[in-house]
Amino acid sequence: MSNTDAAPASNFISTIIEQDLAEGRIDKVITRFPPEPNGYLHIGHAKAICVNFGLAQSFGGECNLRFDDTNPEKEEQEYVDAIKEDVQWLGFQWTGEVRYASDYFDQFYQWALHLIREGKAYVCDLSAEQASEYRGWATQPGKDSPYKSRSVAENLALFEQMRAGEFDEGHCVLRANIDMASPNMNMRDPILYRIRKESHHQTGDKWCIYPNYDFAHGQEDAIEGVTHSICTLEFADHRPLYDWFIDNLPVPAKPRQYEFGRLNINYTVTSKRKLKKLVDEGIVAGWNDPRMPTISGMRRRGYSPEAVRNFCNSLAVSKTDGVVDMAQLEFFIRDDLNKTAPRAMAVLNPLKVVISNYPQDQVEELSAPAHPDLELGERVLPFTRELYIDQADFKEEYSKKFKKKFCPGKRIRLRNAYVLQCDDYIKDEQGNITQVNASLVPNTLGVDPEDGDKPKGVVHWVSASHGHRATVRVYDRLFNHEAPDRGEGDFIDHLNPNSLTVLDNCWVEPSLVAAKPEDRFQFEREGYFVADRYEHSAEQPVFNMTIGLRDTWSNK
Ligand code: ATP
Ligand code: MG
Repeated sequence: MSNTDAAPASNFISTIIEQDLAEGRIDKVITRFPPEPNGYLHIGHAKAICVNFGLAQSFGGECNLRFDDTNPEKEEQEYVDAIKEDVQWLGFQWTGEVRYASDYFDQFYQWALHLIREGKAYVCDLSAEQASEYRGWATQPGKDSPYKSRSVAENLALFEQMRAGEFDEGHCVLRANIDMASPNMNMRDPILYRIRKESHHQTGDKWCIYPNYDFAHGQEDAIEGVTHSICTLEFADHRPLYDWFIDNLPVPAKPRQYEFGRLNINYTVTSKRKLKKLVDEGIVAGWNDPRMPTISGMRRRGYSPEAVRNFCNSLAVSKTDGVVDMAQLEFFIRDDLNKTAPRAMAVLNPLKVVISNYPQDQVEELSAPAHPDLELGERVLPFTRELYIDQADFKEEYSKKFKKKFCPGKRIRLRNAYVLQCDDYIKDEQGNITQVNASLVPNTLGVDPEDGDKPKGVVHWVSASHGHRATVRVYDRLFNHEAPDRGEGDFIDHLNPNSLTVLDNCWVEPSLVAAKPEDRFQFEREGYFVADRYEHSAEQPVFNMTIGLRDTWSNK
């Protein structure tokens, strides 16, 4: 963990842990982060990771990484690998080996047999449709399945046939024998095992019956000695069922579950199912597209793990679901990059400037600090007769509104270099401005012109002969609706059509050619950028925009 991290604030769970330790109920905290490998992790998971690993760290305990892989249909090795990488990138290391729910399939099977022998589980042949009819609804009790009264011997034989693959998928399920009239729907004889003739990414074809998540989750925690099973609020209603399993099985330990509110962020979606849709439909370039709120997307966008952790740790761990403003996440990103990112100059929409009184072959090596505060050394800025400035910094006609721009007859300061005087400009047949002719005002390196005619504006620039061409991908928010999946219509309807602009004729100062993938920079006057993790090279520099220098959304 880096020393730029703010310590996580105390919260209701840390208070409980303190008491548990003080009163001797536990002597060590064990938590776990339990993702299902059915997609990539997103910012909501980042919060859960910071909570679980953070609590273990602050109490000198342990945190496991455990894949809740009970559903082979939707799970893949690719997701397992990506999740491990994301957790480590965020700066956390799990205790011991990675764990899998599937490591415990033999044990769960034994425990299912135990419940059957105790008369607490039965094989039920109702179809899914019938079962849901029998289940009733919140305000109306369900009815007992006609199969609830099967004998232990019959149930043992049928369950063995299920395991041996003698039935088709959907033919029957194993259910807990609890209470069809319970006011808690989760207690109405929930399914423990179903038949799925699917290969599993960890266990291959060993099993054709798989435990339901609810039958697995609490027992996994018990097996691992997890003391505090931390999850999100939607599982509060499942807690009585988890407790029922723990009370009715010979488990080695009794974990306690605590729920906290999910993190939602406006202008995006945090649901693996929805994010997968964006990927599957080709709306984004993959799970790690820099516009995605995934950990790998944020990484590729140039967010640092410290900034993401600081954001997560700034959030309350509370018992209500909340929506956090995207601007709050962006605040932490800017704050971190401002402190750490070396400065550089890049011209995104180049306009050539020719300095008529500067010799054709002359190259002056100017220099500028890589960072205003950090000791990151100096970078060399070759100054030449032909330069690029940004099109947005030139105006054909002067007006008060444009007093900081380069206009005919007016002066401008080139950042870290001289003052220029604009003489005239050239347009092509289509009316595009193709070149600005200027003259250098002598003796203005770091000092004002002797004649007292001070320029009002400062612009960034790159030598046309010594700079390098680069591709810059400018990103904006993926959705232009504050609540894409909570407002009207489908979330896909709220995509921001301008979330990606590819500029492939940008010019960058020579020092940027040495950038390594994932190096982050502030392009002066433009924003923060990162050398693309996969596509950047010295031959073909590719930078992704992380974020602008200022928040431009809050005022919209
Ligand atoms: P999704 O709805 O995106 O699929 P999930 O809850 O199904 O998310 P899991 O892989 O089961 O995803 O989540 C692993 C852990 O991360 C769980 O403990 C879950 O509660 C937590 N988690 C998931 N989403 C969020 C969120 N938005 N905020 C906080 N914690 C979350
Ligand atoms: Mg889940």
